[in-house]
Amino acid sequence: MKRLHNFNAGPAVLPVPVLERIREEMLCLPEAGMSVLEISHRSKTFESILTEAEHRLRRLLGVPDTHHILFLQGGASLQFSMLPLNFLPKSGVADYILTGSWSEKAADEARKVGTVKIAATTREENYGRIPQPHELQLDPQAAYVHFTSNNTIFGTQWQTEPETGNVPLVCDASSDFLSRPLDVSRYALIYAGAQKNAGPAGVTIVIIRDDWLSRIADGLPTMLDYRTHVTHRSLYNTPPVFAIYVVGLVLEYLEAQGGLAAVAAANAEKAGKLYAAIDSGGFYRGTAERNSRSLMNVCFRLPSPGLEAVFLKEASANGFEGLPGHRSVGGVRASLYNALPMASVAALVDFMRDFARCHG
Ligand SMILES: *Cc1c(COP(=O)(O)O)cnc(C)c1O
Repeated sequence: MKRLHNFNAGPAVLPVPVLERIREEMLCLPEAGMSVLEISHRSKTFESILTEAEHRLRRLLGVPDTHHILFLQGGASLQFSMLPLNFLPKSGVADYILTGSWSEKAADEARKVGTVKIAATTREENYGRIPQPHELQLDPQAAYVHFTSNNTIFGTQWQTEPETGNVPLVCDASSDFLSRPLDVSRYALIYAGAQKNAGPAGVTIVIIRDDWLSRIADGLPTMLDYRTHVTHRSLYNTPPVFAIYVVGLVLEYLEAQGGLAAVAAANAEKAGKLYAAIDSGGFYRGTAERNSRSLMNVCFRLPSPGLEAVFLKEASANGFEGLPGHRSVGGVRASLYNALPMASVAALVDFMRDFARCHG
């Protein structure tokens, strides 16, 4: 069996050593006498899996003691609703910065709860860039500012957080979480579905500042109230045991790579190589403005939709998986998450050069 070059946008490639470890431990976890799929979520074994995962994440990302780490279900999409249900008062306002389909969806859910102001949007430019700082029209009275750090579908990424003064900052970091260091102390809340860059589908990581919890109004359904999960340390009900176990292994792997600074450097090298191939020769065209380019999701076009179809067909026949752009935008998208090896990028670049030579 041969593994393909996996450019999927999510669920996505995982580190091979992590997959090998899962295989090794699948029948019997050390000390447990059974598979991770069979243990109780109240067992000592799972207790230590959960605690380890939390501690590793705290170390790796430098999560300060002021912030809680939660492992929830419902995907990033449930966070679109939980966030306003907990923190947007009926009479309040929340600022949303729109940089793509996911931030639009987040804003749509918040509108069901309270008033949403669009602090900036690049929709008119087909979301080809991140807004400049001077374009942000922030309301100093807003309950929070929400932004999406990496736009999985449009291939753009914030280089640094927007400056929001005293207004709490909230980020959907689903598709670049753990791809680079982050100053967690600047955020009131960060959430990320694990299946892009942190693990398998089934768990969503939420990091929330403790002092923000006091703003939550009573009366929410128990499972939708962040305080439930803080109080019960993500063990109010049965958590996604297997997904948390795998996230723990990914975190261990990232630590062994030298931490997030080393991971970020490797990611910059991979993306740099692919963007250089796109920019040379005039055959390929990147869709994002250069200073907004994502290191995680690289989106580009060919001279015609017909050539794109041929490109994607031949790429697939050559072992490149997951390259079609999102169904809403078309084109080509190569997702270069942490676990994608440089060898896959190098192989893609070679394939692109040969393709351009044949069809240019
Ligand atoms: C994939 C993605 C989502 C949706 O995640 P689900 O876990 O499927 O709900 C939300 N935001 C961003 C930025 C994403 O990339």
